[in-house]
Amino acid sequence: MAFKPFDWLLGLFSLDIGIDLGTANTLVNVRGKGITINEPSWVAINKRTREPLAIGAEAREMVGRTPANVVAIRPLRDGVISEFEITQAMLEYFIGKAHEQSIVPVPRPRVIVGIPSGVTEVEKRAVYDAAMSAGAREVGLIEEPVAAALGAGLPVNDVRGSMIVDIGGGTSEVAILSMGGVVISRSLRVAGDEMDQDIVQYVRNKYNLLIGERMAEQVKIAIGSAYHLPEEKTMLVRGRNLITGLPEAIEISSVEVREAIAGSVQVIIETIKDALDEAPAEIIADLMEAGICLSGGGALLQALDKRLMEELHIRCWVADDPMSCVARGAGMILEDYESLKRLLVGLERGSTRHN
Ligand code: ADP
Ligand code: MG
Repeated sequence: MAFKPFDWLLGLFSLDIGIDLGTANTLVNVRGKGITINEPSWVAINKRTREPLAIGAEAREMVGRTPANVVAIRPLRDGVISEFEITQAMLEYFIGKAHEQSIVPVPRPRVIVGIPSGVTEVEKRAVYDAAMSAGAREVGLIEEPVAAALGAGLPVNDVRGSMIVDIGGGTSEVAILSMGGVVISRSLRVAGDEMDQDIVQYVRNKYNLLIGERMAEQVKIAIGSAYHLPEEKTMLVRGRNLITGLPEAIEISSVEVREAIAGSVQVIIETIKDALDEAPAEIIADLMEAGICLSGGGALLQALDKRLMEELHIRCWVADDPMSCVARGAGMILEDYESLKRLLVGLERGSTRHN
């Protein structure tokens, strides 16, 4: 490759950033600095003008508390950009914020963004355009499972296969990787959010109690599990009784929460089994040795690794700091751009990997 002094100089000074544009949380990894932003992917907008009023943590604080003309939304809820302009505003805000943290004026950044592996060409283009118009000089897209695997320290460039299961808020991503590419991947819209919904439903059906999504998430994080616990726990949940209309608190146990989310957990397990079913025998042999790595916030569900091991007969383990794997992986590409840029996905027709 020819030496391009201008690019080299630009690279030296530019504040390159890797972004995990998650359905639940957005993380920004600044080259040479590490993760400087970690905020919920929420935007509060004016209902009438659709103008963003608050972004990130500030917007999430507004959820359920907004006046009639304001609504707080998650533009990536289902893993894809359903709200292009709002996503663009969010990216702009985070890129701007990362840029702002630099003391000296710097050139526009090179930006690497993680995208779910199942997205269409149109959706990829939407993320690309959003990052470009948010002020990037160059945008690279990387499939989330590849970034997560890199960040988790899996040998993605090795000929031996490795496997990652990333469970986020809106989507779960299952991928088997080898030689820097995706051999098999599955992306499903069942992940943490769905479990929260399961808990809302369960409490409503069993106790006639209406609880909020955030309460349900707290329950899941505190006492949710995928396998029986050495010591089962209980927790107080507050909501509104649907019959009396009055506030009420009930005690719910970890056994009940496990029952509530069992269906969603099972769907994720079936998807992993599906991917394994399709894997070539050589790769299965590699995986039996290397195991399966779990990342994303959903990997923190108690005893999920244990449950998966029992179902899959393959060792499973949770990555170090599972919620930052994608952002760390994107950052690794920036650090070593020339040798790792081939992991990025192309935008042109025909250059995308099949799923
Ligand atoms: P995304 O990549 O989609 O933004 P994240 O990887 O940030 O998602 O994970 C967010 C999801 O992880 C949420 O559904 C959240 O409830 C869930 N989560 C976070 N911590 C835990 C925990 N300790 N146990 C179970 N689920 C958790
Ligand atoms: Mg994610």
